[in-house]
Amino acid sequence: MSAERVKVTIRCKRCGEKFVLRGRRDRGKIDTGFKMCLCSNTDEFDIEEERT
Ligand SMILES: [Zn+2]
Repeated sequence: MSAERVKVTIRCKRCGEKFVLRGRRDRGKIDTGFKMCLCSNTDEFDIEEERT
């Protein structure tokens, strides 16, 4: 099975910044390459995915 392409909206829980990225879902894991927010937050996010 090949990876699904997904559009992902990531919202930072610390500063409220939103990022819209394209990623791939592979075996239940989403890979967007996103590392951290502008405020240095690396793990407190709300993540919403949308199939394209
Ligand atoms: Zn932030």
